[in-house]
Amino acid sequence: MRVYSFPRGGFLYDDHTAPRRDSSEVAYLPTISVIPLIPNEGGRVQPVVSVGDTVKEGMLIGWGHTNVHATVPGTVIRRVSWKNACDQEIEALVIRMGGRFEKLGKKEEIFPWEGLSSQELRRIASDYGVVEMEGSGRALADMLFARSSGKEHRSLVVRCVFDDPWLAADYALCAERSMAVVEGSLIAAKMAGVHRIVFAFSSGERELGELFLRNIAAVLTEGGPTPVSLVLTGSRYPQRNQRELEIALRNYEKREMINLGTLLILGPATLAAIFDAVRLRKPVLDRYVAVGGSAVKKRQVMRVRIGTRIGDVFAECGGFVARPRRIASGSPLQGRLVVDLDEPVLKTTYAAFATLDNHAGGFVKQKCIGCGECRRVCPVGLDPEELYKKIGHDSPESRDCHGCGCCELVCPSRLPLAAEIYSAQGGS
Ligand code: SF4
Ligand code: SF4
Repeated sequence: MRVYSFPRGGFLYDDHTAPRRDSSEVAYLPTISVIPLIPNEGGRVQPVVSVGDTVKEGMLIGWGHTNVHATVPGTVIRRVSWKNACDQEIEALVIRMGGRFEKLGKKEEIFPWEGLSSQELRRIASDYGVVEMEGSGRALADMLFARSSGKEHRSLVVRCVFDDPWLAADYALCAERSMAVVEGSLIAAKMAGVHRIVFAFSSGERELGELFLRNIAAVLTEGGPTPVSLVLTGSRYPQRNQRELEIALRNYEKREMINLGTLLILGPATLAAIFDAVRLRKPVLDRYVAVGGSAVKKRQVMRVRIGTRIGDVFAECGGFVARPRRIASGSPLQGRLVVDLDEPVLKTTYAAFATLDNHAGGFVKQKCIGCGECRRVCPVGLDPEELYKKIGHDSPESRDCHGCGCCELVCPSRLPLAAEIYSAQGGS
């Protein structure tokens, strides 16, 4: 089977401090949960409970652009706010766990969805707080609306491209809940009114991709309206990025003479959340999180309740071997610093790491030695060394930077190339 990729730059990213991806552990339920009321990019959320109120597991506690639910039963003991590393003010409700679980350990009722219209399906996903769980945290309804207002040809791309070992949580989810991801993709296809589903898998994961094809054949109704393709992509980082994935898929489109049209790209965690909302009527309660880094004793993929404090997650992994110098959520390539171990796991937290060194660049500023490595790996063909020198001056080329982090990771002088070039053009 042919493998489709982007033409230049990038690199094969390996990190032995990332956790193994072949299994996951269910984390202890947190005694204290910190449930954010302002998701990453979802607008303000109005709390519908007050301090002192009793809440049930899965109960609506915040209403707004993206609904927020209690992930454990208990009592609301505080309303707090803090500034994260991006200077963003976050508000949250603190819940002390107590009382009966409504969903955990109960037999799950399965609800039919085939008879529901796309509007009804979108409303359910919105009611249950489904967001884009792999990236921005945007409300799913916004993403679908943006792509469903016209009559043009559209494809849903199921992004299972593992170009970064810190995507271990997504891999474990795909392996353990493949049926949920597959059925979630069929529901998403109906919600968005797409004409084709494309399973994009990195070439090393061909077997998993074929399992997805078999699973979808088992649930597709005879003569179902949605054709399905499996496309193998390269594994070089940043193959998973929107731009590089689209380049690979346009090559596939040209070669196979298939019209993919506009692409709606969703990842496995989002699709599993759609399945939970529509089939189980369950809000987003937990998330697979890859926990690791050189400072962590036991690196593993954990299934963690949203709102669990990051410090509790590390504690469950045996704590630290020594005092970490860097703690962040996400991949070391693009992670966000965690400034306080009381910060919670969010719907978008796919990884959390703690390292003994600052190996991902951006911290040890030395002089550029002119090695050219940054130019070699930039997939856009930019000159990061030059752009870095011009920070503070207008340089139109920097607008093409999509912040993939390749240049920063390979820079032997540990210059904060990606962070500064990308933020100079308004990225974050
Ligand atoms: S962060 Fe920007 S400049 Fe650096 S490699 Fe990626 S696209 Fe190129
Ligand atoms: S990789 Fe770093 S040291 Fe090498 S040319 Fe680029 S900025 Fe300079």
